[in-house]
Amino acid sequence: MSERLNDEPQHPKPALPTRRDALMIGAGLLAAPLVASVVPAAYAAEARASVGNGPFPAHAYGATSATSTLGPLQIERRALAPNDVLLDVLYCGVCHSDIHTVRGEWGPTPYPCVPGHEIIGQVQAVGKAVTKFKVGDIGGVGCLVNSCSTCESCLADLEQYCLNGFTLTYASPDSSKAGHTLGGYSDKIVVTEHFVIRIPPGADLPATAPLLCAGITTFSPMQHWKLAAGQRVGVVGLGGLGHVAVKLAVARKADVTVFTTSPGKVPDAKRLGAREAVLSTDTAAMKELATKFDLLISTVPEAFPMQPFINLLKLDGTLVNVGAMNPLEDVHGLGLARTRRSLAGSIIGGIAETQEVIDYCTTRNIKADIELIRIEDVNGAYERVVNKDVRYRFVIDMASLKDGSQPRS
Ligand code: NAP
Ligand code: ZN
Repeated sequence: MSERLNDEPQHPKPALPTRRDALMIGAGLLAAPLVASVVPAAYAAEARASVGNGPFPAHAYGATSATSTLGPLQIERRALAPNDVLLDVLYCGVCHSDIHTVRGEWGPTPYPCVPGHEIIGQVQAVGKAVTKFKVGDIGGVGCLVNSCSTCESCLADLEQYCLNGFTLTYASPDSSKAGHTLGGYSDKIVVTEHFVIRIPPGADLPATAPLLCAGITTFSPMQHWKLAAGQRVGVVGLGGLGHVAVKLAVARKADVTVFTTSPGKVPDAKRLGAREAVLSTDTAAMKELATKFDLLISTVPEAFPMQPFINLLKLDGTLVNVGAMNPLEDVHGLGLARTRRSLAGSIIGGIAETQEVIDYCTTRNIKADIELIRIEDVNGAYERVVNKDVRYRFVIDMASLKDGSQPRS
């Protein structure tokens, strides 16, 4: 479990059962303390009866090859297992990872590929052992939908580092049935309750969706490397992850600098609360900032020369790469060794920490800057993301999918 921030207002930690608790409840070992949060049996049974237990036909949008655009698909969601939740998807963010995966940029992708891992939905039905949700609740699904639950990492609430292989929300071998997982560009999804995040009442739903990936991916390194008030942090790349990173770092009272390749984003960086925005092509400015930073978080989606950024780190500083997932370029051994700098990586976050960032952001009214789009505009949105022209996250209004309309581009 990650540490809480010193300046964080104390809100009561919800007394929710963990997945291990749920397993124990199933075994009759933990029933007493959890009875109050169990769905009233009559209500749950009535709700289940109204939609049945599935499998559920669903509309989706996806790609059938690495070179195809996204278009309408008909898919099926599995029947409810005892711990499953059926969500009607309301909103789904568009992450650059969706584009990498659809286009096969991270290795072979199984098709059809239905992306989407910033999912906000309303609970439509629950399996008979579900305790965390009732029909009508709002739930979120990020990048993970399963993990082994028994390895050292899972037992430490670090499902994202599951030693036996986690199941991603899309394009992962499906641990519940043959084939691969299909993500949130869809009107329905079935997910085991442990991997569904509670979305607090009052949250701005479309602007909260991106926190399920962009939020947790940047929050987790700030927690792990203990970014504290007054420390200098640099955010490299001002896109979906980058703009949320700025907001999260500002909330911790860190001293934030944005490194961008887009001169037009400089005023935005300041509006988001950064002290300054530096064009990373400005070698004089980069030189001036040498050895000034405690932490750098790089959200650049592909390998780029990192040494100029490593040079910005002070003694014991760390550059955390969350963007590029291919071989990194141009890192100089002496450049790291001389001031005991670290180059590190980080992937999303565990379920408990994802819940923590959602609660943290809702309490502080931190949300993504979004452009709400209809599903038929998703291909054009992909082009804008690739061209660094997203301000700062596209979110699909999934009500548009029910129209069954064809892609516009
Ligand atoms: P995004 O919205 O496209 O933002 C990336 C930003 O990086 C761009 O807006 C741009 O900002 C900058 N950039 C793009 N290409 C660049 C280049 N060639 N050289 C230098 N800067 C460049 O993408 P995102 O959704 O934030 O995702 C960022 C990356 O993180 C993606 O690769 C994604 O797959 C990955 N990701 C990783 C995790 C994880 O768990 N580690 C989770 C989610 C996403 P400027 O215009 O400011 O330069
Ligand atoms: Zn993502």
